[in-house]
Amino acid sequence: MSRNIRVDVAVVGDGLIGMSTALHLRRRYLSVAVIGGTTQGRASTAAAGMLTPACEYDPWMPQEFYELLREGLDYYPPFLSAFGFTPESVGFRSTDFTLLDLVERPDSLQSRTEWMDKYGIENRWLSPAEVCDAEPHLSPRTFRGAIRIKDEAVVNPRALLQAMTEWASAEECPVLVGGLTGVDDEHGRLRLTTGEGDTVIADQVVIAAGSWSGQVGRAFGLDIPVCPVKGQIVRLAGPPGLLRSVAFMPSGGCGSIVSRSPGEYIVGTSEEYLRPETDNTAGVVGTILSRLCAVVPEAAEWRIEEMWSGFRPMTSDELPILARADDPRIVVATGHHRNGVLLTAVTGRLVAALIDDEAPGLSLDRFRYGRPLRPHTRFATKY
Ligand SMILES: Cc1cc2nc3c(=O)[nH]c(=O)nc-3n(C[C@H](O)[C@H](O)[C@H](O)COP(=O)(O)OP(=O)(O)OC[C@H]3O[C@@H](n4cnc5c(N)ncnc54)[C@H](O)[C@@H]3O)c2cc1C
Repeated sequence: MSRNIRVDVAVVGDGLIGMSTALHLRRRYLSVAVIGGTTQGRASTAAAGMLTPACEYDPWMPQEFYELLREGLDYYPPFLSAFGFTPESVGFRSTDFTLLDLVERPDSLQSRTEWMDKYGIENRWLSPAEVCDAEPHLSPRTFRGAIRIKDEAVVNPRALLQAMTEWASAEECPVLVGGLTGVDDEHGRLRLTTGEGDTVIADQVVIAAGSWSGQVGRAFGLDIPVCPVKGQIVRLAGPPGLLRSVAFMPSGGCGSIVSRSPGEYIVGTSEEYLRPETDNTAGVVGTILSRLCAVVPEAAEWRIEEMWSGFRPMTSDELPILARADDPRIVVATGHHRNGVLLTAVTGRLVAALIDDEAPGLSLDRFRYGRPLRPHTRFATKY
């Protein structure tokens, strides 16, 4: 039987961003319903789970973005404890990151230590011999050195999403399926219809539909210019403890080896702009695995457990949109691109503040809705 629900806030999107937003809104005693869509290509269950402000930030980006990423990491422990999630249950742990300076890169990463020092990030440049001491299973032929970054973290995004979804259902926050199919105005409120025939009438709406936010936005008459950047990723099983810290190795793409739990190695990922299919392709998986085996020769013996792909929601300036839209009843929370797991908790907190018309406590001007954005140029399909 179809449901007819009246709430303070409807959240469109049941990925990490939508669910974190719903949880933070419930903690403010607002009534909330979430509308979810397809699980195919969802970024939140595809992600590796690195929480790495220092690795992900690039100096050409605005400083406000680094501050957001940093707050994203710092807020994780209080967020987990506020909602009763133990670090173990969601695979959260602090770890140092080894940012390898691969010889395949034309430019060295060593200069990154300068802005890391400027931003107060505890880091140290390691010579090749020091990298070998710290990580004896890495092949010294593949790197010129590395930056060792203190106290970043990893989390298991699937476990976190599951925990948040269970919390929501225990706290009377329904998660409806079928996707948003229609929007009408009902005496100043918004009436949302789902593909299952359910109706949600809400005073305010949060659009947090990841790569589908553009499509969802159009139903509200909004322009939300995010595009899907496909990432393929592989999970392998190998001997536990082979890498003492997580190795991360940008090389034009965003290569990484994340050991989320003993003996589990998540390796990836690609950044693809042209293929909207949720498949794994021989060329990309082959590149991921051959780079892995070059960097960690013993990985040639690891067992492939699983591979998958997902779509990162990206704006053309690679910054998220966290703001009220032209329609003051709507808040947009999307465009988290490569950092949506890192920004999960803090986004929920900030969006809940925006909904309650409170000062968010961080400068969000760079992330405003309607800021000038170049058209996307790297995509074959127009979104
Ligand atoms: C391979 C890969 C690796 C990554 N690794 C990391 C990492 O290590 N660290 C990190 O911080 N980030 C990482 N990311 C990025 C991160 O996963 C994303 O930024 C984040 O998950 C985005 O979350 P989201 O909730 O906005 O989007 P999604 O997780 O895509 O969720 C969007 C939701 O909207 C729903 N939806 C779609 N259409 C509708 C509709 N019509 N009505 C209602 N709902 C709808 C979908 O069902 C979906 O559940 C990675 C991404 C990928 C793809």
